[in-house]
Amino acid sequence: MIDLHTHSTASDGTETPTALMELAAATGLSAIGLTDHDTLSGLEEARQATARMTEAGQTGPELIAGVELSVTHAEHSFHLLGLYIPQEAGALQTALSRLIESRNARNEVIIRKLKALNLDICMEDVLAKAGGEAVGRPHIAQVLHEKRIVTSFQEAFDRYLGSRGKAYVPKEVLTAAEALALLQDCGATPVLAHPFFIKLGATGLAELVTALRSLGLDGIEAYYTEHTPSQTQQYLALAKRLDLAVTGGSDFHGTVKPEITLGRGKGSLLVADALLNQLKERRVRKGLPV
Ligand code: AMP
Ligand code: ZN
Ligand code: FE
Ligand code: FE
Repeated sequence: MIDLHTHSTASDGTETPTALMELAAATGLSAIGLTDHDTLSGLEEARQATARMTEAGQTGPELIAGVELSVTHAEHSFHLLGLYIPQEAGALQTALSRLIESRNARNEVIIRKLKALNLDICMEDVLAKAGGEAVGRPHIAQVLHEKRIVTSFQEAFDRYLGSRGKAYVPKEVLTAAEALALLQDCGATPVLAHPFFIKLGATGLAELVTALRSLGLDGIEAYYTEHTPSQTQQYLALAKRLDLAVTGGSDFHGTVKPEITLGRGKGSLLVADALLNQLKERRVRKGLPV
């Protein structure tokens, strides 16, 4: 069993990269993709954790270095995963650093808006909650919840942080074309994350994926916690028809999303090792490192 979509404290997960690798080992995963939002800053710690396990003679999971990017394409907003991010990510790292700066500026504006609504919250609270580089709305939501300004994480989004909330501030994102070029240029495999999020029918999705493929998309996350069996079948068929790699993951975030278990999602997810082997064969055929 593998899991190619997870988050750590480098973005909005609650487990440190080290704890995540240990959990992956304890879960019996043979490989884990660490795909934090907009940052590669958790990858080095995860690499070191795997190296320590190997030195200790433990058979730890193989680490697939990744990232998750929010992008737009025409009127659509969705997420891309980049798998097999190299240690020197060059232009991708430069673009991510700029996105983090933009995130920080946006967080300041959100906090200012919340303060203007007379809510007792400041940036220090949020940074203390975050602990990593990619700080965002989930951290602000946690602070609002812990301070009992709202009664749940979800209420924080519904009332304040979501697109219809009183303190909503849009996030600067890359276009799909930019993100796909950055991922391709550093030798990563770009994958369309959780396609069900894009509220498109089968024909519309096929058209979108076809367009993304011409921009460098090379895979589709058919196996995902929230996908129904028929959605998974639809995405598998699409991948086959368009000759795309198939990946899968839980989108584990730790205790902020307690219903999602590493590897198993909500219980019925199972991403087979064979998918990673196929992805590796595909990369080898393209002359990319595995
Ligand atoms: P950010 O990158 O700071 O915009 O935060 C994005 C994250 O916030 C997403 O990955 C979700 O986990 C969470 N999120 C965004 N919108 C909502 C919403 N309406 N309800 C609950 N969580 C949300
Ligand atoms: Zn997240
Ligand atoms: Fe996502
Ligand atoms: Fe995710």
